[in-house]
Amino acid sequence: MKAIAKTKPQKGLEIIEKKEPLPGDDEVILKVKRASICGSDLHIYKWDKWIQNRLKIPRVIGHEVCGEIVELGKRVKNYKKGDIVSVETHFVCMECPACKKGNYRVCYNTKILGVDVDGAFANYVKVPAFNLWKNKLDISEEVLSVKEPFGNAVDTLLTEDISGKSVLITGAGPLGLMGILIASHCGAYPIFVSEVKEYRINKAKELGAHYVINPKRENLYEFIMDITEGEGVEVLCEMSGNEEALREGLKCVAPYGRASLLGLFEKDFEIDFNELIILKNIRIYGITGREMFSTWYKIDKLLESGLDLKRVITHTFKMEDIEKAMELMEKGECGKISLLPWE
Ligand code: NAD
Repeated sequence: MKAIAKTKPQKGLEIIEKKEPLPGDDEVILKVKRASICGSDLHIYKWDKWIQNRLKIPRVIGHEVCGEIVELGKRVKNYKKGDIVSVETHFVCMECPACKKGNYRVCYNTKILGVDVDGAFANYVKVPAFNLWKNKLDISEEVLSVKEPFGNAVDTLLTEDISGKSVLITGAGPLGLMGILIASHCGAYPIFVSEVKEYRINKAKELGAHYVINPKRENLYEFIMDITEGEGVEVLCEMSGNEEALREGLKCVAPYGRASLLGLFEKDFEIDFNELIILKNIRIYGITGREMFSTWYKIDKLLESGLDLKRVITHTFKMEDIEKAMELMEKGECGKISLLPWE
């Protein structure tokens, strides 16, 4: 089969030929129907420092996927050939203290599809049956492949109730853009977004943000204090992974507010805990992955009740054009990029 792999410790990716995978007893083989590109795939493409310490090459990349079951291991129940599934991409051990307590999202031995095991930018991919999510909804395959990152955004926005609350989303990358759709769908008001890239500023406005601020041009704190009449926002969703965005975002949070932090930062840095968190009695949540599997039920309910996730998918490329897609992502002139299956 064909696959996109990281084969050399340098920038770039390679299209390779590889033997098709075989299922273990508790696994299935999916024929990839659609895939989409995650920010971590871009880190792998660029060969950033943190991924250098994590990824063993050669590795087939990609984890956001919708596929059709074509083979089943002998212990797999409840699925059949032809089922169209999305994939929870954190493969867990079931044995560590976190798993034993049902907290699979923080499994001590998590293996991520396309990072620790061969991924989905291929004709076929092997997945544990435990990680499958059967799709009952009549929704396009391109949307089904972005359910996984959508789950990150769902947990970030909905860690607590947001209806009738003011929300600030810092960073309007693909995940922040999904955050806007969720905030809007669930009745948050007003929705503030901070973003520095022109394409994404425009996209954030198009998706329903009430105020979009470029913190390089305007003072975010003063803007928000002005609109909220000195109160600040009740909810901060940090979705940029930028240190300054977090600091400014926390400054904007009202006393007794909450902050959910999804963005991953490049390095360690200082924060004024006293002023920004403790003395305002703020609740801070770290968000990693998705709740397995209650988030997936929420995803379906949100889509079923009309949230149009297709609006964040701005470009579609063929798998063989992966380099072009990565260049566009690097420039930030896109929302989510979808990949067509190999012909
Ligand atoms: P992205 O890098 O495409 O988007 C981040 C956006 O933040 C960009 O559009 C960028 O222009 C913007 N930005 C940069 N500096 C800013 C500033 N000072 N103020 C406002 N905006 C600023 O990333 P994404 O794919 O949308 O993902 C969002 C974040 O979530 C990333 O940091 C990613 O690594 C992280 N992530 C975390 C998890 C998890 O499980 N915790 C999962 C997936 C992604």
